[in-house]
Amino acid sequence: MSTLEIRGLRASVVGKEILQGIDLTVSSGEVHAVMGPNGAGKSTLSAVVMGKPGYQVLGGSVTLDGRDMLALPTWERAVAGLHLVMQYPSEVPGVSLIDAMSEAFAARGRDTSGLADLLGAEADRIGFERRFLERSLNVDLSGGEKKRNETLQMAVLGPKIAILDELDSGLDIDALRDCARRVEDMSNEGLGVLVITHYSRLLTELKPDHVHILVKGRIVASGGPELADQLDTDGYAAFAAPEDLVADAPTPARPVERPGSLNDLFAI
Ligand code: ADP
Ligand code: MG
Repeated sequence: MSTLEIRGLRASVVGKEILQGIDLTVSSGEVHAVMGPNGAGKSTLSAVVMGKPGYQVLGGSVTLDGRDMLALPTWERAVAGLHLVMQYPSEVPGVSLIDAMSEAFAARGRDTSGLADLLGAEADRIGFERRFLERSLNVDLSGGEKKRNETLQMAVLGPKIAILDELDSGLDIDALRDCARRVEDMSNEGLGVLVITHYSRLLTELKPDHVHILVKGRIVASGGPELADQLDTDGYAAFAAPEDLVADAPTPARPVERPGSLNDLFAI
């Protein structure tokens, strides 16, 4: 049994406070959905929990089974059992999925001898073409293939808690169903899931136990799956003032995206 505990988390990007005190607890086998309009801070939450560079933590805590995650570099958070499925998976020319997963296994002290078979079996299960396993990671893949690939990596690594940032963005309905079902199966086997989404569409495939609504960096409502249904009928307007539903223009001085190390990209 594992628990990710987020308490009073406040964080800023380029000097602007985005997360204004987030409390969330996700335990093994639970599916929590965080839903919110564009610009609410959903991706910022996933980035701060995983330790993406460029975000400043202003207060609060993030622990996994009592261990302080905020004190660790991204790769150590991943080895501890956190995994992020990114909204926009990175393309990594020159590095194959097998290379990346071999590194990730090595970082965990896991034997890599059966890795190729494991990847092949998972690829078949998620509907990812085996020939992509040897090619540069995500390069020239469609949106759906990238998300199948991300889901495959998660299944092979077997984290304790996974954060899925808009798994449903940029993929067709078949890929969405296949990915959501794989995550659902993993949650039935004990994975704790924090699924971040703008639309309730994903939640018809991946059934949440708890739904939280995030507006302007705060959770303004929490409840059961019925909250997603209410959102579907009433929209975010029922949960926030109109001015809070307009995404701020991106701050002009966005930090330059670092190419990042393998560790950052794959959370190995
Ligand atoms: P969501 O994922 O809910 O759409 P984000 O977390 O991406 O929202 O963004 C929340 C706010 O933070 C937005 O106003 C966005 O412009 C700002 N923001 C996020 N990341 C950066 C960044 N790297 N540089 C500048 N502003 C950012
Ligand atoms: Mg986002």
